[in-house]
Amino acid sequence: MIIIIMGPQGSGKGTQADKLADKFDMIHVSTGDILRDEVQRHGKYEDIVKECMNKGELVPDKINDAIVKKVVERYKKGLILDGYPRSMHQAQEILNMTKIDYIVSLNIDDETAVERISKRLICTSNHKVFIEGKITKEDIKECEDSGGKIIKREDDTPENVKSRLKVYHEETAPIIDYFKKQKQNVIEVDATKPINEVYEDILKLMN
Ligand code: AMP
Repeated sequence: MIIIIMGPQGSGKGTQADKLADKFDMIHVSTGDILRDEVQRHGKYEDIVKECMNKGELVPDKINDAIVKKVVERYKKGLILDGYPRSMHQAQEILNMTKIDYIVSLNIDDETAVERISKRLICTSNHKVFIEGKITKEDIKECEDSGGKIIKREDDTPENVKSRLKVYHEETAPIIDYFKKQKQNVIEVDATKPINEVYEDILKLMN
């Protein structure tokens, strides 16, 4: 089974992908996490990835297509893809690569997205998301599951989030209609609700 999770920054893609991956024993792959790792380990695309991320722009399609091709080949039996596709080109690529069982679209307004991102922290090791204020000051240093450092993402600045939302509306959101026209199984969910309610709504709609 292959599930794609789509939605703007702060819609909870990673959180819902983790929950679905646990339930269905699938692998959760985030292209954003893979690209951040590429920068962290000074991979061959370090400079271009860093530059695009810092500007809130999309990283070139060919880099993401190559990443996803490998991931799809490897985890075809149970994959939750988070962060890809993000452009019309990528949407066409993924349909050429594989059959998709569900496309989950998490809907939130920009104001909620900006507010959520302003409080978001992540673990550098297992990429788990924490919300500032919901964990104590001492906890902010280390993730209890992985021991990894908990940090604010470099690209989670208010200006950057605005650029990323603009890119989302212009380049990524139109993909949802494209998938519907292609008769794909698109599930749309109100992602402003609490995490567990969103999760239950997804499961109900997946039937
Ligand atoms: P995310 O962790 O999903 O918020 O992604 C962080 C950043 O990685 C994005 O703002 C883009 O710069 C880049 N990125 C992640 N996935 C893709 C993709 N499929 N296509 C282009 N850029 C991407």
